[in-house]
Amino acid sequence: MNSNEHTTNSLVETQPTLSADELTRRRFLGAAGATAIAAGAGLGALDATAEVANAQATSSARAPLQPPPPVRLPPLSTPTEKAEGQPPAPLPPSQRVGYAIVGLGHLTLNEILPAFGECKMSRLVALVTGEREKGLTVARQYGLEASAVYSYADYDRLRDNPAVEVIYIVLPNSMHEEYTVRGAKAGKHILCEKPMATSSASAKRMIQACQAANRKLMIAYRIQYEPYNREARRIIRSGALGKAKLMETINGQAQGDPNQWRQKKALAGGGSLPDIGLYCLNTTRFLLGEEPIEIMASTYSTPGDPRFKEVEENCLWQMRFPSGVQANCAAAYATHNSKRYRMHLETGWIEMSPAYFYTGLRMEIARAEGKSERIENRQLNPENQFATEIDHMSDCVIHNKTPFTPGEEGLQDQILMEAIYRSAREGKSISLAPVPGRDAFRGPEPKAG
Ligand code: NAD
Repeated sequence: MNSNEHTTNSLVETQPTLSADELTRRRFLGAAGATAIAAGAGLGALDATAEVANAQATSSARAPLQPPPPVRLPPLSTPTEKAEGQPPAPLPPSQRVGYAIVGLGHLTLNEILPAFGECKMSRLVALVTGEREKGLTVARQYGLEASAVYSYADYDRLRDNPAVEVIYIVLPNSMHEEYTVRGAKAGKHILCEKPMATSSASAKRMIQACQAANRKLMIAYRIQYEPYNREARRIIRSGALGKAKLMETINGQAQGDPNQWRQKKALAGGGSLPDIGLYCLNTTRFLLGEEPIEIMASTYSTPGDPRFKEVEENCLWQMRFPSGVQANCAAAYATHNSKRYRMHLETGWIEMSPAYFYTGLRMEIARAEGKSERIENRQLNPENQFATEIDHMSDCVIHNKTPFTPGEEGLQDQILMEAIYRSAREGKSISLAPVPGRDAFRGPEPKAG
């Protein structure tokens, strides 16, 4: 966790730092878990040996870092006050990991490009777009030369640009596979937006392509790097509020233009589920570290609404986990914004409302206390979620680590979303094979900001 965080009481103890052995064990378990899923689908390359070989092959690509030492400042206030923290220690631009961003849409222009201003290990070096004029305008805004603007047709020429180490894919979902495969073949590491793909088969091909090219693949699950959600996970797993029992979560928003790609099945893969319901699915898995063993789902679309001719409006589903935790999840595409969860535990609950926005997250923690209840509004120092996530990818490239949210994590969500749709279609619950271990599809924990 961020050492700057501020808590208003000492509800739980600090999570112990993991030893190198424990991290190695987790990586092994993660690789083994991926093998279990992959085995049934004939994806034998996903094993620990391949991962180690992969890691070794990429380690020599970068010169050793010689960053300037951090600047230390004396504290200004008493130790009882909220800690200001030490100044950031960014890498000099020449030592940062260079990114090409593919797709100049809403997410790129509003969130990702501005986030580079807050990155400490990452820099923007190229843009890929189908609209040359837009690309040149954005290049000027961010200080890039015209030669750093590529089209989709000459995307493969990124191979010849050594400044580009990572390609960040921010395209409609069905295009993620093609640009991951071509990007890996061009020798670049891949950071890919969620949902990873439009099917588990596509996600597996993406993993295989990156393995074959000895490149890293990370799925951009920003919530898994965000301080409040990481704090919720820490508290849930600490046992300070007893065992987790029930999760309730919704991600709802009001879709506009029926002609946008999100409303087209071929481009989006589905409706509210893969776009925003994925947050409910992925965050529940992230908080618990377990994988569901049973899913029951239903979908609904308002008849005649042009937005939902091809994709579902609502998706509701329940999941049961091996520990007995049950989760009640909802994705809605025609409601006012509502993005929250509450995890109910034996002696308290944790609520994030909103939970999934880019900014303004709020956390409440309730704890049974004698005959009453204590409710705490916990306040942490917010971070730019995109900068934190991008810098994690850079940290993995610089230090040759597996990302915390690798392709296997995205593949597991694709498999579960397919089970959700199948349950809705067939009107019955779907059983899933138990996945051993905790955080079975994740890499080593990201380092604190
Ligand atoms: P967008 O529609 O605003 O941008 C998509 C970009 O892809 C545009 O620049 C468009 O020109 C380009 N494009 C290329 N071929 C296209 C085609 N055939 N049809 C439509 N567009 C095409 O979308 P967005 O909101 O930026 O989403 C892009 C990706 O980012 C999606 O995978 C989405 O799920 C993901 N996303 C993630 C978050 C998050 O918080 N992590 C938030 C929003 C979007």
